[in-house]
Amino acid sequence: MNPTSRNEHPIVIAGGGIGGLACALALARDGFQSLVLEQAREFGEVGVGLQVAPNALSVLDALGVGDAAKKNALLIERLLMIDGVTGEEVANVPLDERFVQRFGNPYAVSHRADIHGALLAACRSHDLVELRTDARVVDFKIDNGRVSVTATSGHRVVAPALIGADGVHSNVRKRIVGDGDPLNAGAVIFRATIAADEMPKPLQHPYPTFWAGPGWHVIYYPLRDWSMFNLGCTLVTGAPEYEDGQEVTPRDVLPRFTGGCAAPFRVMRIPKKFRHYVIRHREPVDNWTSGPVTLLGDAAHPMVQYIAQGAAMALEDAICLAGAANETNGDFAKAFQRYQDIRIVRTARVQISSLMMDRINHAAGLERKVRNSLFEGRTPEQFYERLAWLYTPPPYVK
Ligand SMILES: Cc1cc2nc3c(=O)[nH]c(=O)nc-3n(C[C@H](O)[C@H](O)[C@H](O)COP(=O)(O)OP(=O)(O)OC[C@H]3O[C@@H](n4cnc5c(N)ncnc54)[C@H](O)[C@@H]3O)c2cc1C
Repeated sequence: MNPTSRNEHPIVIAGGGIGGLACALALARDGFQSLVLEQAREFGEVGVGLQVAPNALSVLDALGVGDAAKKNALLIERLLMIDGVTGEEVANVPLDERFVQRFGNPYAVSHRADIHGALLAACRSHDLVELRTDARVVDFKIDNGRVSVTATSGHRVVAPALIGADGVHSNVRKRIVGDGDPLNAGAVIFRATIAADEMPKPLQHPYPTFWAGPGWHVIYYPLRDWSMFNLGCTLVTGAPEYEDGQEVTPRDVLPRFTGGCAAPFRVMRIPKKFRHYVIRHREPVDNWTSGPVTLLGDAAHPMVQYIAQGAAMALEDAICLAGAANETNGDFAKAFQRYQDIRIVRTARVQISSLMMDRINHAAGLERKVRNSLFEGRTPEQFYERLAWLYTPPPYVK
């Protein structure tokens, strides 16, 4: 046993993404040791850009990695929605000092690897976190209040608790919720990166540029000290025509985005290749815990990315769960129930709100005009008021 640990045997965390690593770090900071089992050969992140709202930055601050995470992040000056049909501005939310004062942090865009990397470095340097790769959790059994976890590469661990932070296809969830495969949200995303020297200067904006088109939306923003741009083109579609992660060309992508003005296509024409992914999610469920086993992040409440909050929710989960373990002094079954009680309404609200943005972001015809009229004349304070439930860090983020 690690002499500084409050638990004799490590808790197992399945999955070393942003949620799993944040959880290991949060538990370690409260004196609990954990073992992270990650299926991949190396720790890393799929995808490139991540919007990091103030509620997410507040968790990173509380975990002591805020400065490291913000080092390469860009603080953006506004959130902008443009009508993809006319090119006119629909909504403009300034993220200036008023915003920072209100929510305690700015709004950033970051390379995923920088957020994940900051968490990974902190985990690696903490005595109470053990990290193993090439270890895919395939099964578990609860026996006498303990959890026997089976993973590939011959890992078999008996632990006081198991946390499934194993993403949208979670194996741990199968045994707790049993709701089958995640749902296809009826949309796909074509992702690309653009080097700064390929992006025309007039298109280099210090904020995400977001066009809401009929049945599609396109967003791009700068990353890593303006050295590159992240581009995501989401399309509402029937059955996907490509595999997840498949490389496609602009010729495959552009003709599918119809009915729009010229501006988004100026950006979409730049990359030589895109990668295609199906957007997946699940309906909220009213339980994701069974005794000493619980879920966190996308394993618990995967959502469509339309309000850019999935990673933020995983971070909030992590700090809430560690706080509950602290309050129950390591009675993990009790802690997991408390954590779920605290988190379930907020995360379900974010899942549902994200899905409602499908209609806003992709409106066509009359509905598009209604969408535009909803935002007309809103002052920054009115926007902040409506966003307060989301961007204000919950009280357990400390
Ligand atoms: C296109 C797109 C854009 C997005 N943009 C944003 C954004 O701007 N802001 C935001 O906050 N969120 C965003 N999200 C959501 C965000 O990416 C996810 O919510 C977040 O990554 C969830 O983190 P996680 O750790 O729960 O899961 P994951 O990131 O999926 O990590 C799970 C980890 O577990 C590992 N794993 C899986 N199965 C097993 C197993 N059986 N055993 C062991 N290891 C396993 C995986 O290899 C992985 O490392 C976006 C999502 C998409 C699809």
